[in-house]
Amino acid sequence: MLFLFDIDGTLLRRMPPAHRQAICDAAEAVYGVRLSADALGQTAGMTDTAIARRVLRAAGVLDTDAEAGLPAFFAAAAAAYERHVPDDLRPYHTPHAVEALTWLRERGAALGLVTGNVERIAWTKLRAAGLDGYFGCGAFGDEAEAREALPPLALGRARAVFGRDFPPARVYIVGDTPADVACGVAAGMRTVGVATGPVHSLDELRACGADQAFADLRGLLALEDGWRGA
Ligand SMILES: [Mg+2]
Repeated sequence: MLFLFDIDGTLLRRMPPAHRQAICDAAEAVYGVRLSADALGQTAGMTDTAIARRVLRAAGVLDTDAEAGLPAFFAAAAAAYERHVPDDLRPYHTPHAVEALTWLRERGAALGLVTGNVERIAWTKLRAAGLDGYFGCGAFGDEAEAREALPPLALGRARAVFGRDFPPARVYIVGDTPADVACGVAAGMRTVGVATGPVHSLDELRACGADQAFADLRGLLALEDGWRGA
């Protein structure tokens, strides 16, 4: 069994706005667009590529120019994040995050990431939170604008890293937004919504078609009957 986790709102929450500030710094450095962190608007469930394209379009940057600058933008955002990130993000774990990850790992589940974060930001964030060691692979927000493109990338990497096959029906996408659920459904995977994010309630996650929805990650312990022996 393979579990693919979102990061923001799922493993970590209520962090200082280092990531938003990093995006603003990079937009100014690469495109000359000055933004405030608030101007990024609602970003839950979006990839960093989608966030960048949205704010750049609103600022009048041509799509072709935005596209051409993205590699430099991602590098600048990662470097800025490394300057802004608090040394210790452990206080921002969602409830039962470590308990659930440890429990899954002890039972032989393979763990990976499907996150909208730029890859380098994702690993920096998880390292500061003491969670990076749980995850063997992932797919990231600098690889595609559409979240639906990410689960197949993560699945291919998981096969290579863990050395075994994971049929989509034996893969769980775990996230805090309907966008997480939608990307899992599009890939034929199972989906788990956790209502630990800033926007979406348990009822909303149920209503958007998640196979399971839980108040927090401790709910993953209740899935055991469904995957023991995988
Ligand atoms: Mg999220």
